[in-house]
Amino acid sequence: MAKRRRKKALQGTIKSVLAIVCLITAFFIYKCYGPGNGENGNYEIPEGSVEFHFIDIGQGDAELILVDDKAILIDTGNIGSDYREKLTGYLEKLNITELEYFIATHPDSDHIGSAAYVVENYDINNVIMSPKEHTSKTYLNFISALEEKENINVINAQDKLGECIYVGELELKILGPIGDVEKLDNNNASVVIIARWGNTKVLLTGDAEKEAEDSIVGNYAAELDCDVLKVGHHGSHSSSQRSFIRYAKPEYAIISCGADNDYGHPHDETLSTLEYYNVEVHRTDLEGSIVVTTDGEKITIKSEKSLQK
Ligand SMILES: [Zn+2]
Repeated sequence: MAKRRRKKALQGTIKSVLAIVCLITAFFIYKCYGPGNGENGNYEIPEGSVEFHFIDIGQGDAELILVDDKAILIDTGNIGSDYREKLTGYLEKLNITELEYFIATHPDSDHIGSAAYVVENYDINNVIMSPKEHTSKTYLNFISALEEKENINVINAQDKLGECIYVGELELKILGPIGDVEKLDNNNASVVIIARWGNTKVLLTGDAEKEAEDSIVGNYAAELDCDVLKVGHHGSHSSSQRSFIRYAKPEYAIISCGADNDYGHPHDETLSTLEYYNVEVHRTDLEGSIVVTTDGEKITIKSEKSLQK
């Protein structure tokens, strides 16, 4: 009898263990292959954190912000299928098909090269753009694509100047462009945004140069203090004046530029200025795509190169 009871007890234990193993397996299958968590699909950011991706799309800008289950794209990189595939491949890898915001900083082709394609092929809720217009085919195609799409809320950045937009608890304050954009060149008409998550700030400057930097310092000097600066105009000496960096006081700087680009970006003057202020510099031409993660207190930076080590 005792032997039979032991056998029964053993069978019960095996059944319980099997049930637990099945539950754990089901949980992992669900986590890996189950439905996505919204716009970010299956890609998960660390709990309570925001990620800023500076995508290596060669010479140009394309930044992606991930917060909760929402995605914000700033610029698209240059014209051409090679550049476009770098961007769409990156978004595909993260399973992103919806954008809460698409921000077009200014109408130069190295920023809106694939803007029409993005508008046509992604579900976008809001577009923020500089009021600066352009006669280029790339710009006109972008505008036509926007006109074709219904349900996109198109926002002129200057109508929201000095105001904050919230995506969850992520605050995006619009600091530029300031002044009559008709009189500004394309770069100085860039949408400039400072993003705040908890006690951390990331300053995103498009291609803003000296003129725009002076206006921003004139209006928002007390608010420019940031942890991370996306350096203006790919590290050109026409941006990142000492008078601007002195107020921005970044701990880290990200420079988005192509390897061996025709412009010599980043320029030595910019690198010297950043060195003078003890800023740690990260470059997409040297490190590939760069991901800045903040939990509201602490910043961590990873790049494709650092992950390969
Ligand atoms: Zn540019």
